[in-house]
Amino acid sequence: MLKSSSLKPHSYEPTPANGLVAYFSMEIAIDPQMPTYSGGLGMLAGDTLRSAADLGTPMVAFTLVHRKGYFRQMLDAEGRQTEDAQPWNVEDFCVEQGPRVTVSLENRVVTLRAWSYDVVGRSGHLLPIFMLDTDLPENSDWDRSLTDHLYGGDSNYRLQQEILLGMGGVRMAHALGLPVNVYHMNEGHAALLTLALLEAQTGGGPLGQVTETDIEAVRRKCVFTTHTPVPAGHDRFSMEQSRRILGAERTARLEALGCCHEGLVNMTYVALRFSRYCNGVALKHGEVSQAMFPEYKVDAITNGVHGPTWVSAPFAELFDRHMASWRRDHLYLRNAIAVAHEELHEAHARAKESLLAEVASRTGLVLNPKVLTLGFARRAATYKRADLLFHDPERLMQIAQAAGGLQILYAGKAHPQDEPGKELIHSVIAKAKQYSGTDLRVVYLENYDWHLGAALTAGVDVWVNTPRRPYEASGTSGMKAALNGVPSLSILDGWWIEGCIEGVTGWAIEDGADDVAEAEALYAKLSTAVVPAYADPQHWARIMQTTIAFNGSFFNTNRMVKQYIRNAYYPVQLMELAAETAEVAHAG
Ligand SMILES: *Cc1c(COP(=O)(O)O)cnc(C)c1O
Repeated sequence: MLKSSSLKPHSYEPTPANGLVAYFSMEIAIDPQMPTYSGGLGMLAGDTLRSAADLGTPMVAFTLVHRKGYFRQMLDAEGRQTEDAQPWNVEDFCVEQGPRVTVSLENRVVTLRAWSYDVVGRSGHLLPIFMLDTDLPENSDWDRSLTDHLYGGDSNYRLQQEILLGMGGVRMAHALGLPVNVYHMNEGHAALLTLALLEAQTGGGPLGQVTETDIEAVRRKCVFTTHTPVPAGHDRFSMEQSRRILGAERTARLEALGCCHEGLVNMTYVALRFSRYCNGVALKHGEVSQAMFPEYKVDAITNGVHGPTWVSAPFAELFDRHMASWRRDHLYLRNAIAVAHEELHEAHARAKESLLAEVASRTGLVLNPKVLTLGFARRAATYKRADLLFHDPERLMQIAQAAGGLQILYAGKAHPQDEPGKELIHSVIAKAKQYSGTDLRVVYLENYDWHLGAALTAGVDVWVNTPRRPYEASGTSGMKAALNGVPSLSILDGWWIEGCIEGVTGWAIEDGADDVAEAEALYAKLSTAVVPAYADPQHWARIMQTTIAFNGSFFNTNRMVKQYIRNAYYPVQLMELAAETAEVAHAG
């Protein structure tokens, strides 16, 4: 038998009882009325915090206030995107906090305040989000604008925002008296928090005197999640920029500590260098990231989505009826396997009806609820290949005719500076026009956001995803669909490698050598598997059952947050696991 003393953590190791996790993210989707997010990264951050609150996790979060919001997308008749700012009233949602902290930027001193927003867990647990704000009279006009635009401005603006988030956030946590023992960097944007911790560790003394012990003290507190397998997706700044904005001494220190790469300050390397734990966001992404950073150990924790946020009202009612404990523990969704076929059809019909009503009110187009309807909504980045479905328009038309009609709903914003992304939207809309009045109906919906994302993932029949491998780190919209009994038809990349059970939770688009081959594979799967299954209501109900049972029960943040707690935040619990294993082995 193991003595209980052997389970005691080392004195330096953090435990949930003695402090908080501070989660840092440049964007967080907090509330549908607050435009403080751009897409998947912010949604993941929000869903993480919602589940952490549900689970009663001692945690706080830091982000920037983004007063001008992320943009509202407008599409003209030709499918050309233009953008509008979405200013919002911070006072209407958040409470101002008393402390002020300062950060130096380009040798100026900038003052920050924080606004708090409490995420309320299902049992009333409060998880405060602190939104940093420079809009104060003591700052210059330029500095007052630094917390206005999410991913706005040039790279100088970005670096200044990252200093405010990382260094300002750590100082604000101290000023608020928060007992933080784990700092979680959600993507490299927050990596400079490590520099603030290092300076606090050395008593604010000159960074030149940093010792290995100091670095180790910082590493013990930090964990890092990387989110992109695209090298250009990792935040990098020139040495000149860094010396000018962050300061010469700090830049020299980062360089000496191995945080620069190819002559640039690389935020991913900063985060890796100062973290005791690092992970990618799906198993495959963990492997790809491990190969990109062979000198560091990269683990994987697969993303999820927050169930109560993404399950439509008809399915929430159904789950409450059949497995009332699902809100507390999503593993109970496994029992969807026993829900009657008619009930699933009925719930989905209601979700589809409310989506089609939304489409009609936005566009005036009346779609047919009986017709197979595909959904494709995501950021209009070229690697996601929104136009792959149109590679061979005649073939697609034949499939639509044979199926008795086909409806495809699109949505997605292109970043204001992403011209190829905008061109992609334009080309999909041109196709949509070409098909109007045929068996194939294609609609591009404006201004993809939280509300539209929820309506689409719940209301379509099949969720389609066609990224170019291996660029999809995880993807989460297909997980929202799965929770609503909607199977995916997708390239085997990101989470879908783990989630696809062929014909059971959806279908894989076979890997091909190029776009042509993968478009062919998409048509083949659509015509030989999806269309026939949809034509058979019993078969389709079975797919809905197994999609919820296998994927809804797993690809959620209820499971994901528990994995972060066990593997990243408080790995001391791994010692318990090891002890249990030893006990079992001993007893056996
Ligand atoms: C879920 C969601 C995303 C992320 O979905 P992906 O599958 O990663 O593209 C982006 N934007 C909105 C509005 C969402 O709801």
